[in-house]
Amino acid sequence: MGIGTDLHQLKAGRRLVLGHVPIEFDRSPVGHSDGDVLLHAVTDAVLGAAGLPDIGELFPDTDPAYEGIDSSRLLERALAMVAERGYVPVNVDAIIHAEQPKLGPHKKAIREEVARLLGLTAEAVSIKAKTNEGVDAVGRGEAIACTVVVGLRRLDRT
Ligand code: MG
Repeated sequence: MGIGTDLHQLKAGRRLVLGHVPIEFDRSPVGHSDGDVLLHAVTDAVLGAAGLPDIGELFPDTDPAYEGIDSSRLLERALAMVAERGYVPVNVDAIIHAEQPKLGPHKKAIREEVARLLGLTAEAVSIKAKTNEGVDAVGRGEAIACTVVVGLRRLDRT
């Protein structure tokens, strides 16, 4: 098992991308990459389950190579490193913490896309959305955050 969390500040600007799915919203995450808070947490969970360094160490935001990068490419690289160690994902349980936008209409698309990126069926992926009841930075709509757990299994070596 691996756990990953992430939080990005929200500012007026670019579109919001969650789990590689573009979502219409008047604010977007501040970040060096595309600011996909869900994929960053998934990537950290995948890396952590295999005992690998974290996303910030492997793909530093001081490196211009990662400016504006599609976060699914970081996840792909993490999955390749994990596969080299003999592991593949089994399941994902994710919580998106956001006061806005309402994520209900987007959960199915996000679930299917995260499953596709990890080579899983949608049934092996859970995407939950929670507000923070108007409290703290997430609750005030100043930030969006994610908490993710990923399970890995050893590849059959026969
Ligand atoms: Mg991040």
